[in-house]
Amino acid sequence: MPKCLKASRENKCNGCELCVLESQRQIGKVGLEETLIRVFRKSSKSSEYPQYKLEIDPRMNSLDIKKIKDICPQEVFDIEEE
Ligand code: SF4
Repeated sequence: MPKCLKASRENKCNGCELCVLESQRQIGKVGLEETLIRVFRKSSKSSEYPQYKLEIDPRMNSLDIKKIKDICPQEVFDIEEE
């Protein structure tokens, strides 16, 4: 079964973008162009802390997603079977 990366605990994301940097490293790109994962800050006036939303391109699943899962300090990701 193919594995896929799921942002199961997106609400814990602190916006550090380490997952973005790791995915860029794996595809040999520098900077934030054409990233396979994107981190957006949600505009929320009701919350004291910033909230983030993650967008994961399905092509991400061809990378070493375990490394991406493991690099996240907030344990946002799970690896699931598709
Ligand atoms: S590494 Fe984790 S905490 Fe950092 S931006 Fe990515 S999902 Fe959020």
